Amino acid sequence: MNNPARILVIEDNQTNRELMVYLLTAFGYVSLVAHDGVVGVEIARRELPDLIICDVHLPKRDGYDVVKDLKQDASLHHIPTVAVTAMAMVGDRDRMLAAGFDSYISKPIDPETFVQQVERFLPEEQRIIRTTAQATVSDAEPHSCIPYKTGATILVVDDRLTNIEFVRSALEPLHYRIIAATNVQEAFRLAVSDAPDLIFTDLHMPGLDDDDCSFVRMIRTNQLLKKIPIVILAKNENIGAVVLDLLNHRSSWH
Ligand code: MN
Repeated sequence: MNNPARILVIEDNQTNRELMVYLLTAFGYVSLVAHDGVVGVEIARRELPDLIICDVHLPKRDGYDVVKDLKQDASLHHIPTVAVTAMAMVGDRDRMLAAGFDSYISKPIDPETFVQQVERFLPEEQRIIRTTAQATVSDAEPHSCIPYKTGATILVVDDRLTNIEFVRSALEPLHYRIIAATNVQEAFRLAVSDAPDLIFTDLHMPGLDDDDCSFVRMIRTNQLLKKIPIVILAKNENIGAVVLDLLNHRSSWH
């Protein structure tokens, strides 16, 4: 991928903001952040992002004010803008769409589907997940559709050994080579030494304190490693299909 899409996240809640940025970054998008509506619109004007994700309840100017500003600005009104909201009242949805939001996502966000939910508002050539694993790959007969990348090396990073064993048991029968690490330092060392084709990483790793993104950042800022696709390990019951799909689209990552 030549130029990853740039996605502006306007969200005052630190936990939500960090999770969204973490997920977008892990999938290869470039994130811009704003903590309130005023700064959000400023950054949108300055940076002209490809997509805007906007909390509804924001300090200074709320999500409705923000989307109004965006849609009234001739240089910004084309940018897809998705609301993120904990509101679930019937009238709120209509109000959000009427205000100019292209769509909305409910909080709490689901780490497993968040990126897919937002990236469908990007032009197809800018999407990273492309055809989604869930939608297109049957897991009924995985052996009948083993990709040409059989033998690919997959690095699994998780502090829980049971999760590593789960991935191993799902993927080794498909002839993938699994290497695993239970901490970030070991994971980085393995990434350098073994150059994996794909990395699965747990969302929360011990030893990272408040900076959960640092492993992804270590990979993304390393010249040799930065193009390796990274997948967040949530509860992937369809993990085989996810891997297969990503590896089949490997060429599009370069
Ligand atoms: Mn908020």
